[in-house]
Order: sequence, then structure tokens, then C-alpha cells
Amino acid sequence: MTAATQKLFTDALVWDAHAGVFPSPQVDLNLLDHWQQQGASYLSINVGFDVMDWQDTLATLAAYRNWILARPERFVLVGDTTDIDHARAEGKFALSFDIEGMNALDGNLDMVGVYHALGVRQMLFAYNLNNAAAGGCHDDDRGLSEFGRAVVHEMNRVGMIVDCSHAGHRTTLDIMQESDMPVVFSHSNPTAVWDHQRNIHDDQIRACADTDGVIGLNGMGIFLGDNDISIDTMLRHLHHVSDLVGARHIGFGFDYSPALDIDIGAILATRPDFWPAGQQYETRGIKHAGPELLPPLIDAMAASGFGDDDIRGFLGENFRRVAAQAWHA
Ligand SMILES: [Zn+2]
Repeated sequence: MTAATQKLFTDALVWDAHAGVFPSPQVDLNLLDHWQQQGASYLSINVGFDVMDWQDTLATLAAYRNWILARPERFVLVGDTTDIDHARAEGKFALSFDIEGMNALDGNLDMVGVYHALGVRQMLFAYNLNNAAAGGCHDDDRGLSEFGRAVVHEMNRVGMIVDCSHAGHRTTLDIMQESDMPVVFSHSNPTAVWDHQRNIHDDQIRACADTDGVIGLNGMGIFLGDNDISIDTMLRHLHHVSDLVGARHIGFGFDYSPALDIDIGAILATRPDFWPAGQQYETRGIKHAGPELLPPLIDAMAASGFGDDDIRGFLGENFRRVAAQAWHA
């Protein structure tokens, strides 16, 4: 890195909109050190997804929450963006939770407020397959249900980021029409650069920008290209979104897990319903870029013409802008 980009990175708010750790009360959260060592200021940790029973999501949330709250010298469980500012000023890592899919509600709208009270600040509607609220990206998407519409309004009301990643095309357009707040795709890449059902089309990117939302670019090799996590490829995704809707609608949700001793492909192969054949999930040795990609990526972004304000926006200020609205502060 040049001295100038090093300073920019050190001083910047660095926001990772989604971790890819498989949620379980047994996970050792000391792995969070990895993000902090790579310069992250804030991370949204997933505590559940539709593959799990809702009771297991609640148990994971309880375990993670207690672990974090027992270490106030290292972490801040954030309620709003002012808590992130305080955490940074004190050199602590700011955290909140997300849930991937509305099975976690068990059909009960009141659970949105319960999850919010426990630290969940971002929820996705479906995890690849349809559920009672929404359609998934690997399913025959029938759009947002009446229950799903009620969930959008309840999330807007209690103060949660509405997240369209993993949902089906039609469902995402319904969500973005329904929400009174900016909407995000926390970890999704453009289909125009790499054709994958988990990636998103230009009309979805435009609709997201129309809400003043943000697309978080995903670091997983099978969503970026042919298991390709090179800087050039990441930059191609970034440029596509920027050319389409502008730099203020881009961030990062690396979907990263530092548990590199696990073979993601082997885990995904156990549930071909959620991770269907023909979508590269069977790839052995799936590569995965995390926040360690940021220093060379910042140099590459600067070299390709983005200014300091654009880069600060990508690194965190764009997601912060959305969060300040969605979280009501
Ligand atoms: Zn995900």
C-alpha cells in the first residue's frame, strides 16, 4: 500500500455487512479476532439461517450474545450507529447480528421485536428456498407473501435493516417496493459479471439504489467467478455496480469465515435442497476473500480512478448511512 492509502484505510470506518460462519452455540467466537486484525470496525454476525430450526437460531443468538457481553473490554454490541462511533473511539470491535431467512420467526410477527431487543439489526427474507414470508433465489419464487409484507413494515418500525440477499428476483422487487427505508443486498454480486442464481440482476441493483440502499460485494469465489477471488475480478464487480448506479450504493459483505480448515464444499454437499447441483456448490476447495483483501483492493480502486470519498464510502460510510436510517439513529 502507498502511505496515503494506508492512512485512508487506518482512519476509515470498515464495515463488513455479513460473516459466513455456520451458526452454532459451539462456535468459538475468538475467531472474531481475525476481522479486527484485518482492520474491520464493524461486523454483522449471522446467528441463524433457514436450514436451522428457529429454536437453534435463538440458542445460537443467546450464546453469542452472552459471550460478547461478557467481554466489554473487547466488544460493543451495538444498538445504533452512535454505538459504532463510541466503539471505534475506544478501540473496540462493534458487532450486531443478522438472521438469514424468516423461518426464524416461526410465523410470529412479534418475534421481529424480540430479535431486535436481543441485538439483531439485519434480517433476510429467504435462504435460497421459499418460506412463509418470501421466495428464495434457488426456488420457484412466488414473491412476498402477506406475512412477508407485514414483516417488512415491522422491521421498518422496530429499526432493522431490510436485506434482500438470498431471496428470489420477484420477492426482492416486492420487498423494495414495500419498504419505507433503504434496503440492502448485504452479500450479493452482479449477475452481469458472473451468472449465478445467488447473484443479482441489473434491475434489482437499480431498485436497491432507488431506495438509497447499498449492495455489499461478496468474497466467495463461486459468486465472483469460476472460484476466482482475484483483485481484478472483485474490481470488475465493483465497477459494474458503480457504472450502473454510482459509488454511493456499494459496500462489502464478504460472507467470510476464517475457519479455513473446513471444506465448505463438503458441508454444502450435505444439503442439496438448499445448495442445489449446477450452482458450483460442489466445488472442492471453494476460495473465499475476506477483509484481508482490502489493502490491495484499496490500491486497485484508487488506481482505477475512485477518489478518497468513494473509497471511504465502499469501506463503510455507505452502509453506515443506510444503518443510521434503518436503525433510527
Ligand atoms: Zn448468506
